[in-house]
Amino acid sequence: MKIRQDLIAGFFGLLVISVGTPLMAQTVSEEPVLSILVYNYSAASPTVLGQAEKETQRIFSRVGVSISWTDCPIQQVLLEKSDCYEEPAPGQIRLRILKQPLNDYFQDSIFGFAVAPVFASVYYGSALRLAVLDKDEYALSAIMGCLMAHEVGHLLLGENRHSASGIMKAQWDLKQVQLAMRGSLGFLPQEKKLLYANAIAGRRKAEPALCARGTRE
Ligand SMILES: [Zn+2]
Repeated sequence: MKIRQDLIAGFFGLLVISVGTPLMAQTVSEEPVLSILVYNYSAASPTVLGQAEKETQRIFSRVGVSISWTDCPIQQVLLEKSDCYEEPAPGQIRLRILKQPLNDYFQDSIFGFAVAPVFASVYYGSALRLAVLDKDEYALSAIMGCLMAHEVGHLLLGENRHSASGIMKAQWDLKQVQLAMRGSLGFLPQEKKLLYANAIAGRRKAEPALCARGTRE
């Protein structure tokens, strides 16, 4: 009998826990999570890309936004069903790492481009050229992470939005690279508020944006 009472007590205990946990999750965990699928078409190594993802995550964590990364193979395995090759789910972001700008007319200041609400592209070649400005061996992944944050930032901030300073500055020079290396290159306070609000509400509509020069692809 004692055993039965314990079992009943245990059962109701589980009920309390199972009911209580979701309620706690709703109140404690309000941090929005961006789901980003990454397609690497460049020569960026998995190590550099992995470190760049961590840097992007660190930058967005200061906004109060988390990132869930999925590294996608660039060749589809037909027999394997994968989110990488399905229609994008609502809120999902697809980030391409491309070799370099398609047109040499554009200069080094071009980091990539973003087409809201889903697609962002970063040029690995641009990260390489900016990294040359700094001799630190970790420069490349740190700069890659900042460029990725910049382009994903476009998806959340809307339209072709750039700032006079911070990570959303349209053209970077040595100062931005040095800030990136110190982990100090990030979003401005007003950008943080907007990013957080839009991450919570879902990305708002935005026109295609191309960094610098005002030309769109
Ligand atoms: Zn830009």
